[in-house]
Amino acid sequence: MLSSENLADIVCPVGKKELIQKDNFLVCSYCGVKYPVVEGIPVLLIDDAILPEGVNSLDELKCMVK
Ligand SMILES: [Zn+2]
Repeated sequence: MLSSENLADIVCPVGKKELIQKDNFLVCSYCGVKYPVVEGIPVLLIDDAILPEGVNSLDELKCMVK
């Protein structure tokens, strides 16, 4: 598990928003995209991220919208 101290430094790579740990994922507080945490290491790759419900493509993510 990650300490909250480590987590504070990690942001959504798309929109630079805060991430919230939820089970084995880090969830972006803004766009809702989920990044898997594999063996304690967050995989902050948008290509490996899980899109939130109702979002069908990366372009629809709130963090993507400028
Ligand atoms: Zn985001």
